Amino acid sequence: MTKVTVIGSSSIDLVVTASKRPNKGETILGDSFKTVPGGKGANQAVAAARLNAEVYMVGCVGKDQFGEKIVNNFISNEVFTTYVEPVTHLETGTAHITLAEGDNSIIVVKGANDNITPDYIDKALDVILKSDIVLIQQEIPEETVEYVADLCFTNGVPLLLNPAPARPISKSVIEKAAYITPNEWEASVLFNNKDIHEALKEYPNKLLVTEGKNGVRYYDGENEVLVPAYPVDAVDTTGAGDTFNGAFAVAIAEGKNIQDSIRFANRAASLSVTKFGAQGGMPTREEVEESL
Ligand code: ADP
Repeated sequence: MTKVTVIGSSSIDLVVTASKRPNKGETILGDSFKTVPGGKGANQAVAAARLNAEVYMVGCVGKDQFGEKIVNNFISNEVFTTYVEPVTHLETGTAHITLAEGDNSIIVVKGANDNITPDYIDKALDVILKSDIVLIQQEIPEETVEYVADLCFTNGVPLLLNPAPARPISKSVIEKAAYITPNEWEASVLFNNKDIHEALKEYPNKLLVTEGKNGVRYYDGENEVLVPAYPVDAVDTTGAGDTFNGAFAVAIAEGKNIQDSIRFANRAASLSVTKFGAQGGMPTREEVEESL
């Protein structure tokens, strides 16, 4: 089985729907409330596990009921939780989401995700170094991303960096990663508004820019290639990028070539947007293969 390690955030989304947003100092009645497991790291781990990889999550939660919910969700999705440590000094990360007037507003509290430091990574060295691929995102401290990039590069473990949410990254991290998967907005931040076609040429077979329903663009060393997404009736695109990343990691680690891996991941991500919720729509291996 392909071994995938995901280093990243786990959180609980607290989602309220209401007919309007309260004004400053105002209290209103909402229509519904639900708690949903999220966080880019956790989402990508679940995406990869649904596609039959052996997935190890390296993350952190608080010793509270949300932390328990996250761990139980990993277990029911067959993600290994040996390196998901409940800590007492921080609360589990949360995203406070209000859906009102056809739009959302979100406050993220990183909580225990800030505890994913280079020292914390060292506790999981054993599994990281035995991985076929490591996935990382940017909802954890920047120094940790730099540390992991060094670690993977030095030890010859391929690293997939999903640079989300957007922030500038040092050139050395870009050089050390095997694959980088920004969406169009993240790419513009990453390359300081540089022409994207130039950036793609600079990082052949490494930089994969996801373009929503258009698909994914990369440079194969000779030509720029757009691998189209699959046309679907999208109902909720939350987590599309996470599904893409989890699926791409599995496919490339299994030995598929880059274009076939993108095709596989596009298919998984396109299927995921046909259902509600980031993790709710993530397809199984059978569902992806049936529809390829
Ligand atoms: P993010 O969710 O990180 O913003 P994108 O919106 O670029 O990322 O989506 C990631 C991938 O999900 C796309 O490359 C595509 O494969 C798939 N996808 C996203 N939106 C759609 C859509 N409306 N229809 C089909 N596939 C989609």
